[in-house]
Amino acid sequence: MDTQIRIVIHGASGRMGQALLRLAAERPDLQLVAAVSRKVESRAIDGIAQFASSELSGLPPFDVAIDFSLPEGFDGILSACVERHAALVSGTTGLTPGQREAIATATTRIPVLWAANFSLGVAVLNDLVERAASALRGWDCDIVESHHVHKKDAPSGTALALGESAEQGGAQPRYASLRAGDIVGEHLVQFTTLGERVELVHRATSRDIFARGALHAATRLAGRGPGQYQLRDLLD
Ligand code: NAD
Repeated sequence: MDTQIRIVIHGASGRMGQALLRLAAERPDLQLVAAVSRKVESRAIDGIAQFASSELSGLPPFDVAIDFSLPEGFDGILSACVERHAALVSGTTGLTPGQREAIATATTRIPVLWAANFSLGVAVLNDLVERAASALRGWDCDIVESHHVHKKDAPSGTALALGESAEQGGAQPRYASLRAGDIVGEHLVQFTTLGERVELVHRATSRDIFARGALHAATRLAGRGPGQYQLRDLLD
């Protein structure tokens, strides 16, 4: 099928990468051309060419890279996309301010979507938090996020994005992070005053929601002009 979008999964051996590989294989509109991980342990995952992060110059032609890796792997895939004039969808969190600036620079040449969270529920939660913050002026605002013990960054990228929404509504959020067991991701935004409390909470029970959101965004981003896109621009 010549309308297939050629994708590279970057961070393929990870928890998100595995979900992306499985769900991408179910989509006839996507052609998975390569899987990139920090190191390659065996040379093929179900017939897909595998590359180490040091081998990005050897990638076959692709339209979009989907990156769920770690900050130390991000610069390489961003450069590879700029060199190939390919789009980048990234959900990697914990990026440095310099890396955020590098995204802004790259968007003069390629389309890029970076999002702290690819779930529809969290997109709605962001709106609710902004509305609640603006209606509950002067209340304490606390964001409590819980994730599995392997998660490296804290507070989570999603907690920081929720905090930005709260600030837009006029609140001054504080953050608390819990790392326990295999929690996929929970975010509680709590507004408290004397004698009452409002709690807004999102619980992710499967990584598939993030992977599906990223694959959907990749199909919408391919072929667009250079620029920095938001998830809400690509939800249709
Ligand atoms: P993981 O530790 O299970 O996997 C990390 C992957 O990155 C592995 O494939 C590893 O080989 C690769 N990697 C590590 N260093 C690299 C390097 N230098 N170059 C290239 N690849 C490298 O992590 P995970 O749980 O799959 O999460 C991956 C990222 O996605 C994290 O930043 C996490 O916070 C983020 N995340 C985002 C969302 C979202 O919706 N935006 C959802 C879940 C996770």
